[in-house]
Amino acid sequence: MPTPHAYFRGEVVPLEQAKVGVMTHAFNYGTAVFEGIRGNWNADDQAIYLFRVREHFERLAQSSKILTLTMRDSVERLSELAVELVERSGYEEDVYLRPMVYTSGEVLGVRLHNVENDTLMFIAPFGPYLDIEKGARCHTSTWRRVNDTGIPPRAKVTGIYVNSALAKTEANLNGFDEAIMLNEDGHVSEGSGENIFVLRHGKLITPSPSDNVLEGITAQTVVELARNELGIETVERQIDRTELYIADEIFMTGTAAHVTPVIEVDRRPIGSGVPGPVTSRLSSIFFDVIRGKNAKYRHWCTPARVRIPR
Ligand code: PMP
Repeated sequence: MPTPHAYFRGEVVPLEQAKVGVMTHAFNYGTAVFEGIRGNWNADDQAIYLFRVREHFERLAQSSKILTLTMRDSVERLSELAVELVERSGYEEDVYLRPMVYTSGEVLGVRLHNVENDTLMFIAPFGPYLDIEKGARCHTSTWRRVNDTGIPPRAKVTGIYVNSALAKTEANLNGFDEAIMLNEDGHVSEGSGENIFVLRHGKLITPSPSDNVLEGITAQTVVELARNELGIETVERQIDRTELYIADEIFMTGTAAHVTPVIEVDRRPIGSGVPGPVTSRLSSIFFDVIRGKNAKYRHWCTPARVRIPR
């Protein structure tokens, strides 16, 4: 039986021992930054491959810097701890690692200074997030993406996910799979937990970092794969809502969402209303890459071998 572990207060412990008190500052004020890292099970290799682990911890360091929080450990040390958590937990399936730098002091008063902070990480089994085969039916959210001048979306801040949760719940309650948020300028920004790509005239288009998006690691990966493997370039520029309606293909990218086709926006079918050929091609290349099956991109995969006796 797998036993989930966590990195908590400087030690690797069974997950059930990693508990915070009700007065924990970050729990009260949303003052934490975090990451989501996938570990992808490869049955042939009997290994879990952690995808672009270094890039995730580098982004955690950047998010911490924006919030003036201190990361307890180096990127290298956190990468080692990620492998250790996978190995000690013993899963033989896809997993998700959640590192977090949070204001850990048990004190009142909303601020980022004069409060202790700490780093933790936990692991959980994690299967598919959206229906990749069928594709996602999306709508334009009535909630606008928060602005860099409010809570910066470039930093993966826990509190910012209230914005995402409002959008996701509105979408689901209205019968859609996912929300597409516009920014305050009315340009397309991102999904509740995904970046967005549009295919038009044989080119990929994605909003620029200044359109209030999280600079996605899956998005960067897909840009490289599209260029190297399909000869398709990506342009970063503003996208209007109506440009979505007339796109040839749309897909969303994210650690949880992988490459998810968008088959409908605001009740208009995208292309012919089924996952498009470029999206499907990219998605299948992507899946091989993240499971360590493509030698050319193996450097993005950090193997963690399970130690369960068989
Ligand atoms: N935007 C938001 C709001 C997200 O939460 C995520 C998921 N981390 C992404 C985009 C995609 O980022 P990544 O590909 O690095 O997971």
